[in-house]
Amino acid sequence: MPETRVYDLHTHTVYSDGALAPAELVARAAANGVQVLALTDHDVTDGVPEAQAAAQKAGITLVPGVEISVTWGAQTVHVVGLQIDITHPGLQTGLARLREFREWRAEEIGRRLAKAGIAGASEGARALAQRGLVSRTHFAQFLVASGHAADVRSVFKKYLVHGKPGHVPGQWAGLDEAIGWIRAAGGQAVLAHPARYKITATRLKKLLGEFRDAGGAAIEVVSGSHSRDDMFRFAQLARSFGLLASSGSDFHGPHNYYMDLGPMPPLPDGCTPVWQTWDTSVPATRHVAVIV
Ligand code: AMP
Ligand code: MN
Ligand code: MN
Ligand code: MN
Repeated sequence: MPETRVYDLHTHTVYSDGALAPAELVARAAANGVQVLALTDHDVTDGVPEAQAAAQKAGITLVPGVEISVTWGAQTVHVVGLQIDITHPGLQTGLARLREFREWRAEEIGRRLAKAGIAGASEGARALAQRGLVSRTHFAQFLVASGHAADVRSVFKKYLVHGKPGHVPGQWAGLDEAIGWIRAAGGQAVLAHPARYKITATRLKKLLGEFRDAGGAAIEVVSGSHSRDDMFRFAQLARSFGLLASSGSDFHGPHNYYMDLGPMPPLPDGCTPVWQTWDTSVPATRHVAVIV
């Protein structure tokens, strides 16, 4: 039977740097026709139970997930974990360590911005972090609100990326480590939005090879931050590296520059979907045991 389900396997809520609460995210996903939704907040899974309860009511399937920050060489890359057991102690210990680094980094970004003449940034960012996890998005929102830049996009360019006053190098999880936590928790590791990394084609192939050899399962082929060309290019790369293909909007909120939740282009021909082995053949309400 041809695949007819609508999947969105990469989304955020207020538990990280998204704008919606889990129940609001689920309602919007259901309204937009999503049938299988993964919640993948940055380095935290605390929104999953709320999302799961809302999904059950809405009759859609919620896939427990996370988006783990990884340092690979000098590069930050993101690894999404899908179908994880969020109660797994090894995974949670790992994520707690990353959140500690986030805390320290928030203070350090604040100190560096203060030196550049911008006072109160870490307090300002924290005030915008609705569930306590502080991200650069919150710094960006604070800097825009306090008149230091016109919009979130330009604030990143001006203050928060390599070579700019508020940049702090990452000390996130190792690639092997992040994949290890996800697999230990029974999940599949997915390399997020591979077209976003500013690396050469040679380095990218090195990354894909190391990712696969460390037990990575899939790459995002369809992503809210991929162009059509990116999609076809990564469909080809997934095939040649023997990796499965995933699809996710990377939705952060209704007013965000990323794509909205909902139907995205289908996976190009020849891709094997990351969900091929999932039991999503019956509505969420009737197979809760598989999901919880
Ligand atoms: P963090 O994990 O705290 O370093 O923040 C990374 C988040 O910032 C990403 O997940 C995006 O949501 C956001 N972000 C990164 N780069 C940009 C950019 N150039 N413009 C807007 N948002 C960005
Ligand atoms: Mn984000
Ligand atoms: Mn990401
Ligand atoms: Mn994301």
